[in-house]
Formats: sequence, structure tokens, C-alpha cells
Amino acid sequence: AKAHQQAMGAAKSLNAYVRETPDQALAMAVAADERIARGEARPLEGLPIGVKDLFCTEGVESTACSNILKGFTPRYESTVSANLWHAGAVMLGKLNCDEFAMGSSNETSAFGPAVSPWRRAGDETPLVPGGSSGGSAAAVSARLCLAATATDTGGSIRQPAAFTGTVGIKPTYGRCSRWGIVAFASSLDQAGPITRTVRDSAMMLQAMAGPDARDTTCADLPVPDFEAAVGRGVKGLKIGIPKEYRVPGMPAEIERLWEAGQAWLREAGAEIVEVSLPHTQYALPAYYIVAPAEASSNLARYDGVRYGLRVEGKDILDMYERTRAAGFGREVKRRVMIGTYVLSAGYYDAYYLRAQKIRTLIKRDFENVYADGVDAILTPTTPSAAFGIGEKGSGDPVEMYLNDIFTVTVNMAGLPGISVPGGFDAKGLPLGLQLIGRPFDEETLFAAGQIIE
Ligand code: GLN
Repeated sequence: AKAHQQAMGAAKSLNAYVRETPDQALAMAVAADERIARGEARPLEGLPIGVKDLFCTEGVESTACSNILKGFTPRYESTVSANLWHAGAVMLGKLNCDEFAMGSSNETSAFGPAVSPWRRAGDETPLVPGGSSGGSAAAVSARLCLAATATDTGGSIRQPAAFTGTVGIKPTYGRCSRWGIVAFASSLDQAGPITRTVRDSAMMLQAMAGPDARDTTCADLPVPDFEAAVGRGVKGLKIGIPKEYRVPGMPAEIERLWEAGQAWLREAGAEIVEVSLPHTQYALPAYYIVAPAEASSNLARYDGVRYGLRVEGKDILDMYERTRAAGFGREVKRRVMIGTYVLSAGYYDAYYLRAQKIRTLIKRDFENVYADGVDAILTPTTPSAAFGIGEKGSGDPVEMYLNDIFTVTVNMAGLPGISVPGGFDAKGLPLGLQLIGRPFDEETLFAAGQIIE
């Protein structure tokens, strides 16, 4: 009993769950038991999972970890979570994340930061689990659920997976429905799973993905047998190494990890070739125009009338202002202001339109590499291992934005990307390797990812 109590205390101290749903969990588990007893088990029957608080869950408060949505209980279920329940999964609760998924460390959450279960050797400094899907990564890595849903707009599935030694895949834009997921930047957002293994990742995505008439950007394509791709190997595949990702100041241990990954794939029968993605250096600045622009538009709906928080004022405009001033955190306000600015008359051409053009160039870079017969691209997931809570970005937000340097290009191009645990840094912290695939070819990522994990 004492050990159990200690374990529960340790689990709570990670602040991974912002809402536990024991009643739902019990009812779903009992139903799963009955199905198993009848020999009617579905693919994920009875498997306990956590749901990022960005997903709307019917009858369960869904806040995107923002004060402005506290008290909002949807009367509908997101397509992705509904798909998981139809496959038999059991919901344990809602997981912490950065407010509206804006962040790389889970420190912008209105519920306080989620904490990584990992520590540097000989150092008790609490570390970030990454973000924005920090609660999902912390929970899976600490074994507080078997798998979790997450979302990725610029790296929010892959970076936390890399920081916590877990597997995270951002599928091709359109593979999963965005219906019922709180929108951040609609042209970049995608849902995906965080799991312990590549096989679990394939099984989870299999259940989450698929066409949905309620999201017009959701692809009308059948979902392949992802699990069958695991174990297929990489014999005869061509893996590209983009020379532009060798950024100045990259730590030697990241360079070594990247080389080890190439060696493992080569030994397994892949051909390693150097490739060029010449517009890489523009991806981050362009992302930080496109994402805030779309966010400022998406977040206009939080006005104190339709959802969650309302702070009364002397008239309706005053009420809007007071509600948004009280409801949004600092990072969200910063993004709304940047977004509004770059979309303003007179600035639209200089910023937003140019960023969209850069986006096209980035997409073409990848198309050219794939046209040369490359099947997937290997890069590090992040430029460093996890950092301490409060250690980064408090003075200069750009310091935090730089974390996304290897992941945002993939969202800008709409491609699938997976992060797989690749090794450890000198302090014993996990490091991730990223594989980027052709559009709608997640199968190659599962096949190659399994060689690396
Ligand atoms: N860290 C990036 C940002 O803050 C990406 C976030 C995400 O993918 N949701 O925008």
C-alpha cells in the first residue's frame, strides 16, 4: 500500500493529467472485458490511453489548457478520439499541454508545467517533457498510460517524444481528421499518437486515421495496414541526409547520434545518400508568421459569448476585452498580436504572402528529393536533449522557437514525420531521430523507424 501511495504521489507530481476520468475508464473497461469474454475484441480492446486536452471529449471538460476554455464541456467527441473508442481503447483522462498547443516545453499551460520523469545523471533539476504535447509524452514515458493522443503543428508530437524516449508520429496532413480538435494553425495541425514502441505507434495511428466528411481537408484515402509495415525492413530503400540540417553549433552528441542512425540503416540494407533542401533556413521564420496568422484568426472565436470564461464589462466590447485579457496567457497573446499584425492591410504582402511563397519553396525542395528516388529522410529530431523547467525562453521567446528547427519544415510541407528514440546524451537523457517520408507513406517511416528503435 505504501509503495502504491508513493507511486501515485510520484505520478501526480508529473502533472501529466489535468483531468482524470475514472468513471469513464471503469465503464469502458467493463465493456471491454465483456467483449473480450464474448470473443469480440476489437484491435485496441481495453487498452488504457490518455487524450491531449486539445481534443474535444463528449461530456468531459476540454480546455486546450487555457483559462479561457475552463468550464467548457463539449457535447461532441473529436473524430480521432471517437475512432479510438470504436477500436476499443479506454480513456484514462485528459493530458496537459501548452496553452492552445503554443510552445515547446509545456510551460505555457494554464495548469502549470508537466514534468518529465527523466533526470540528468546526478542532478535532480526537474526537466521539461517537451511540448506542446508534454503531458502525453510524460504520461507515456512514465507508464501512466499505454499510449496517448497528441497534435503537431510545428513539432509538438515529435519533439516531446524525442525528449522522453518515446515514439511520436505526425502523419501526412489530411491523414487524420481535425474535426473536434481545438484549432491552432489549421493548415499545419495534425493529430498523431505518442507511444512506447513503433509497433504501438502503427496500431494507434491505424485506429485514429481515416476519411471524415466533417473535415474537408481530411484525405479520402483508405488507411493502409500500418502494423504490417513494421518489420518490413529497409532493404533497397534510399535514405536522404539533408546537408542543410548540419546547423552551426550542433552539439557533437547530436552529430554522433545522426551518424549512428545512418549506420544502422545502412547495415539493414538501405542506401544512404546526401541530399539538399536549400530553403531549410527560411522554414522557422516563415512558420512563425503562418502559424500566428492562422492562430489569430482561429482564436477570434473566444469572445466570452460562445465558450468557457466570461468576464462581465460595461458593454459588449468591454466584455470581449476583459474576457480575452483574463483568459489568454502571455504566449497566446503574443501570437495573436503577431498574427494580427502580419495579416493587416499594408503588411499582408510583406509578411504573410511572402511566408506562403517560402512555404511553396520548402515543399518543392522535398518534392525534388523524392523525385530523385529518395524514400525517406533522416535527421535529428531536436538540436539538444530536454532542458530544465524555467531554463529557456523566459527572456527571449526566440530561444524557445529555435527548438523547432528540424521539425517545422515537415509541417510546412504537409509531410509525415516520426521521431524514434535513437540514444542518450552524456547525461543519460534520451535523444530522438526523425524520419521524414513521402506524402501518405507513413508505412516506410514505420519500417525504417523499427530498425532504429
Ligand atoms: N513549438 C511550436 C510552436 O510553439 C510548435 C507547436 C506545435 O506543434 N503545436 O508553435
